[in-house]
Amino acid sequence: MTDMTKLALFGGKPTISRALAPYRTIGREEADAVAAVMESGVLSGFYGSWVPEFHGGPVVKRFEADFAALFSTGHAVSVNSNTSGLIAAIGAIGVSPGDEVIVPPYTMSATVVAPLFYGAVPVFVDVDPETYCLDFEKTRAAIGPKTRAIIAVNLLGHPARLTELRELADENGIHLIEDNAQGPLAMESGRYAGTIGHIGVFSLNYHKHIHTGEGGVCVTDDEALAFRLRAIRNHAENVVAPAGVADATNMIGFNLRMTELCAAVGVEQLKKARTLVGRREEVAQMLSEGVGRSAALRPPVVRAACRHVYYVWGARFDAARAGVSRAVFAKALAAEGVPVSEGYVEPLYMLPVFQRRIAIGRDGWPFTLTNRTYTKGMCPVAEKLHREELLEIDVCMHEYADADVADIVAAIGKVQDNLGLLAKHEASRA
Ligand SMILES: *Cc1c(COP(=O)(O)O)cnc(C)c1O
Repeated sequence: MTDMTKLALFGGKPTISRALAPYRTIGREEADAVAAVMESGVLSGFYGSWVPEFHGGPVVKRFEADFAALFSTGHAVSVNSNTSGLIAAIGAIGVSPGDEVIVPPYTMSATVVAPLFYGAVPVFVDVDPETYCLDFEKTRAAIGPKTRAIIAVNLLGHPARLTELRELADENGIHLIEDNAQGPLAMESGRYAGTIGHIGVFSLNYHKHIHTGEGGVCVTDDEALAFRLRAIRNHAENVVAPAGVADATNMIGFNLRMTELCAAVGVEQLKKARTLVGRREEVAQMLSEGVGRSAALRPPVVRAACRHVYYVWGARFDAARAGVSRAVFAKALAAEGVPVSEGYVEPLYMLPVFQRRIAIGRDGWPFTLTNRTYTKGMCPVAEKLHREELLEIDVCMHEYADADVADIVAAIGKVQDNLGLLAKHEASRA
């Protein structure tokens, strides 16, 4: 056996031994835009009272207008993170203590924790095994008299069943919030992910497709919701009287404001968004085509009429067909120099906050308002994905050249050609 065909795990030559370039979206344009704000001396234009500056400074306003235009949405409300945006969204729709909010367990923790700040009870609904997003039928079945909202997550950059979820929410007189942190410019049926729910929330943290260091944006077509989001972002309690707000529910606020510096970066990032996202899609499609439908790996599924923007290329590993565990397969790939990872997060109901039922205060509020329990096994699809199936190659951490992608595909092929040897290796260590 030559050195090229021998697995690196067994001492052969790795397919990729060079360092892969990091994904970098910040350039001269952002630096110049920030410098201009610095020279103005006004690093934030916000005031926390009912004056024209309540809505922020000129760069924040420009960024919001550009964001709304790019995503064809009525209103864009900038915030300092997606986490902040989710909290503002839950507040804006009027969630009250004891209300239930349907969430998927396979997401970043902020998605499921945001409702807790308003005393709402997260109700976990399992995900679809193909797209890793909320299972539509299970969501429908989970709606009960206390359900107030659904938070759908467009996980890894693929839209959840947004159009149907919106219809379901409207039929039940509840709200659909999209956590679209991972899906900028993803689409379903010609509409942008993030704009199909009543409110969509985007992340601009450093790890996402485009970023402002930290940052986020809420979008909505509903003018009243946009006002409430802006109020919660900026000390709502001070504007209730002067702005003549009739419904004071949740009209107490935070400081979730974006600085002019971040907004200046954001304006430049938006100009690049189509190109940056387009390249993520191209890389992922090359990976999917290169890998094909092999014994071991099934490339990410793209539902009909959807655009997947691949925050991550998340394939499904089939241990039964491969004859080896995902752990051994991933280890062999990593030895070849492929930036691979296994699973995403442990289904979130396993976090201590749910297992110990301690969130706000020492007595367990808001779990004291519900009989709901959080038990291992409650979302078997997500658990299996996490434990055995999901195998990821990042697309937003490296800037791959076509040759890099070709080498990743070659490395996957090499590992697949050696499944028999890997199986023996695994058996000998069992
Ligand atoms: C990144 C991310 C968040 C949190 O975003 P921040 O801007 O860091 O608050 C929330 N949900 C999902 C799905 C994410 O990927």
